[in-house]
Amino acid sequence: MTYSQNDIKFFLGLHGAQSFNDNTCHLIPSFGNMGIIETNAGLVVFDIALKQFSLRNFKKLREVTQKPIRYIIYSHGHFDHCFGFGPFIAETEEKGWKMPQVISHENCITRFKKYQMLDEYHKWLNAQQFASVMGSQTDVVSPYDILEPTIILDGKMPYTFQLGELEFEVNHDKGETDDSLWLWVPEKELICAGDLMISSYPNVGNPYKVQRYPKQWALAMEHMMKKDAKFIIPGHGVLIEGREKVRDVLAITAEAMHFVHDEVVKRLNEGKWFEQIFHEMLEIYPEKFKTHDYLKPLYGCYRFAIHAVYRLYHGWYDSGNPTDLFPAKSEDIAREFLKINDAQRYYEHAKKLYDSNSHQLALHILDILIKGHNSIEHELYMDALHLKYDILKGKATAEPSFIVRNIINNNAKQIKAKIKAFRKK
Ligand SMILES: [Zn+2]
Repeated sequence: MTYSQNDIKFFLGLHGAQSFNDNTCHLIPSFGNMGIIETNAGLVVFDIALKQFSLRNFKKLREVTQKPIRYIIYSHGHFDHCFGFGPFIAETEEKGWKMPQVISHENCITRFKKYQMLDEYHKWLNAQQFASVMGSQTDVVSPYDILEPTIILDGKMPYTFQLGELEFEVNHDKGETDDSLWLWVPEKELICAGDLMISSYPNVGNPYKVQRYPKQWALAMEHMMKKDAKFIIPGHGVLIEGREKVRDVLAITAEAMHFVHDEVVKRLNEGKWFEQIFHEMLEIYPEKFKTHDYLKPLYGCYRFAIHAVYRLYHGWYDSGNPTDLFPAKSEDIAREFLKINDAQRYYEHAKKLYDSNSHQLALHILDILIKGHNSIEHELYMDALHLKYDILKGKATAEPSFIVRNIINNNAKQIKAKIKAFRKK
């Protein structure tokens, strides 16, 4: 069966296992793919996926091979890549096999500590970012439930090891994170890329997450290109197969990362502020990136990446307008606007903007009513909430990015709850 990567369900791993190289290599799809390489001395497992799906992944693995796991490599320390070890370790203990070696980058250890420090915050954050797939589940991950790495790399040089008849080369590059490792298996012509390749626009500039590394991401792609691989197991999405396709996917991703990085840097050097840079960047985004299968904004998107580069080199004061340096409360500002103009007129104007498809501008006007709702008629406040809800739902429906969609839908949901609560009063 062939898969199209242009579907969020493949990004989420809701498809069957893919075996290749005479059934010696396997991609176990999950939220965070697992890459499995068989040797005559056991298995090397690249990423162990999300805890929530660990039993499902364990069953999938044991459908394709019965060999013991000898090495686990963490592509990076995110929850969807190294917390699903439970059933695999239980089996190892049960069968009296030797515990696998666990390889990570040293920054992964720092990351695990950070997850423990910010446990509650991350629970909230992940519930926002993954709202559409988490449902009411809140405890899908625990930062205290860790399979500790046994081989910790500083990433300065590639780390090579031999298992059975095969040689493995573990490399470090920054991209989505500062603890990224990727694997090269020369005899299998295979790269396991982790989230350096997610089969859509790189998740650089995620609005909820810490700084990411667009320029180094481009360099990572170029380092991978030198291997002339035939297969890539991406961190998310289906197997990338064929030398030409592998080269094309890596090259276009590198080019897209260089582009967003260099164009934002150029504008910073021209003395421009964020708003101008952002809108100019949208205007110059090349068609070849917009239409490329592997740069679709399925998860992250180009709009986020512009923020990523700006944030990398710039402080938080981003408008060049001292009014924004220590602004008044937005509620107070809204109330002042409502003193100089009739609330009804704001609403009618927002409606007019909505009817003429200027939805973003309509939202800005509606926010005056919503933030200043204490000084307007209750009915008008409800009308404003309704209209904002409709606009957000429309935006979410048209939005290709999973993260953007969740952000918008989360807020729409809150608005709906507010309307409902007022109706009950
Ligand atoms: Zn991931």
